[in-house]
Amino acid sequence: MPKTCVAASCSITPADGISVFQFPKDPKLRSKWTKHVLETRANFKATETSVPCALHFRDEAFANLMPFKMGFASRLFLNDDARPTVHRKNMPQERLQYLKRQDTGIDDFSIMRRCNTSID
Ligand SMILES: [Zn+2]
Repeated sequence: MPKTCVAASCSITPADGISVFQFPKDPKLRSKWTKHVLETRANFKATETSVPCALHFRDEAFANLMPFKMGFASRLFLNDDARPTVHRKNMPQERLQYLKRQDTGIDDFSIMRRCNTSID
């Protein structure tokens, strides 16, 4: 079953080309994430399968936004202390396109190999 974003009025799945993130294990950070979802969705409780999508994070929350935007990474990663702060309402439509996976047709592994071969 594909993971669907838990945020209210957001039904993004990885199939949309948008990265999703598992709730952090750290209890303090986890409760911040939960709080964000609760702002728009009453009685939410995070489970093992709960994921918010990349749309709820600001640019500075991502550890690899630049390589991702250039098509060198197939998914976004978050900084350790990143937390969701953005709600879908009031979100410009361009944001979705901006954070969408670039379809380069190359996977991370082939890029790694190419980098290795360019050394010698
Ligand atoms: Zn979402």
